Amino acid sequence: MEYLKQIGQLNAPYLFWSSLGLFVIILVRYLILSGVYHHFFHNWLRDKYQNRFLSISKLKSKQIKKEIYRSAISATIFTILGMGMIILWQWGHTAIYTTFDAYPIWYSVLSVLLVLIIQDTFYYWLHRWMHLPQVYRWVHKEHHMSFRTSAFTSFSFHPLESLLQAIVLPLLVLWLPLHIGVILFILIFMTFSATINHGGVEIYSSKWARSPLAKWLIGAAHHDDHHKKFNYNYGLYFTFWDIWMGTETPDFKERFEKLTTKEEAV
Ligand SMILES: [Zn+2]
Ligand SMILES: [Zn+2]
Repeated sequence: MEYLKQIGQLNAPYLFWSSLGLFVIILVRYLILSGVYHHFFHNWLRDKYQNRFLSISKLKSKQIKKEIYRSAISATIFTILGMGMIILWQWGHTAIYTTFDAYPIWYSVLSVLLVLIIQDTFYYWLHRWMHLPQVYRWVHKEHHMSFRTSAFTSFSFHPLESLLQAIVLPLLVLWLPLHIGVILFILIFMTFSATINHGGVEIYSSKWARSPLAKWLIGAAHHDDHHKKFNYNYGLYFTFWDIWMGTETPDFKERFEKLTTKEEAV
């Protein structure tokens, strides 16, 4: 595409407007998704979902304002990384592909799973490292300032943490063949996962909660325990590492069961 080629040639107006456009897309996507998600559960369907709320304290508007401010800085970091990824792609230094016949369809599905598992593993150990006292105060403290989380907490990080979290995908595309559609899907998945896990409401239905898969997937109650109890539940999407390393909240299973067997949400 001619437009992308101009970015690859470092054409200044193209670089400027594309960066601005990407920043606006990332930030507006965050604001709309967080805003709709929050109001959906906390205002419009408050009565139906009140048994599933993970905190009883009221969310302060001062906290939301701070989270939006930090998220705008995160969006800037994500924009820089995104533009870097586009430039490297145009220079031919990545394994990104655009035609579906370049690899079999099953490979696209496998590549999504592979990226999610790599991201999850990287994040688990990064997260453990960020909780070391000497690292915590410089990198991770800002995210934990949200003791009672909401959908707006999903992008609220120290700039260094935003960089460390987001660097995985740009590094992976340097050698792992990924279709452009797969990359977009993963970006959308990341946003939804972060919003749901910080949303402050357990949305898993009782039926889903009892399925064998649910045990391995992180949800709002799982990550809420991390913000409240601090030294448990470090995972991003999956519970594998927490279970294997013995860092899952000891009473999580019972709490999760209790929460999801309360009066059905929908
Ligand atoms: Zn943490
Ligand atoms: Zn969090």
